[in-house]
Amino acid sequence: MDVVVAQSAGFCMGVGLALEKLETVLDEAEASDRIHTLGPIIHNPQVLAEFAARGVSCLERPEDARPGSTVVIRAHGITRRAEAVLRTRGVTVIDATCPKVSTAQKLISRETERGRSLLLLGEAHHPEVRGLLSYASPDAVVFQTLEELVPQLVPDKDYVLAAQTTQDRTVFEQVRDYLRERLGADVPVLETICDATRVRQQEAIAIARQVDKMVVAGGFESGNTRRLAQVVEAQGTPCVHVETASQLNPADFTGCRKIGLTAGASTPDKIIQEIHDVLASL
Ligand code: SF4
Repeated sequence: MDVVVAQSAGFCMGVGLALEKLETVLDEAEASDRIHTLGPIIHNPQVLAEFAARGVSCLERPEDARPGSTVVIRAHGITRRAEAVLRTRGVTVIDATCPKVSTAQKLISRETERGRSLLLLGEAHHPEVRGLLSYASPDAVVFQTLEELVPQLVPDKDYVLAAQTTQDRTVFEQVRDYLRERLGADVPVLETICDATRVRQQEAIAIARQVDKMVVAGGFESGNTRRLAQVVEAQGTPCVHVETASQLNPADFTGCRKIGLTAGASTPDKIIQEIHDVLASL
């Protein structure tokens, strides 16, 4: 089978940096050291399983951190409160929040401290979104479409618009244009969408147009991976989302001559290569 692999497939800068930080902690640790992450360090179950096998456990709450341990903050950040609690626990804190997420947190904090209410394009229950919201005032609105946002707008309120880093730029620009038209130029727009997402999406769309079917590789809980599958399907190209090569079903590719392969920003090269090898052998 002819397989077209996206050049942008695989780790983004933020995921790479977070994993490097965790590797450094592991390299420098004594056998008796307790090493945790607060929340999954990235959204890829296979990577998490490998770290778990090396003794890294994932804490759900900062209150669970025991004094003397080392806690690494995940790539997509935590809430302001969680960080404040963590720093009172007598632990060594390693902040592996992606620099782009940290920037989004700071920009949101700055604008909302000026009295603006946050309009945030994102998935309400995503950990990154919960983190971003903690830097805004409680009247922030989270939405996923313009239709969802419009009935929630209150006249004469000062707003600032931002997005979860992995959101679709097209929807963001549609909302931005609507707000500019409806509320005038006085709505600051924070450019918080990450280029890693845009580059992957654009390349996935370009490949989807030339192939019979696409395979998107990455965690089922990974927001940017799921959205890659959505943008591919929006092109009318059938798409299969898998986490590992063992989940591929050869029958799904009957009649295909050319398959596209891309992967989310938290998918290791090893998994992409394994999937490529299975597809190429069909
Ligand atoms: S997708 Fe972008 S914002 Fe998210 S971790 Fe990667 S580089 Fe950072």
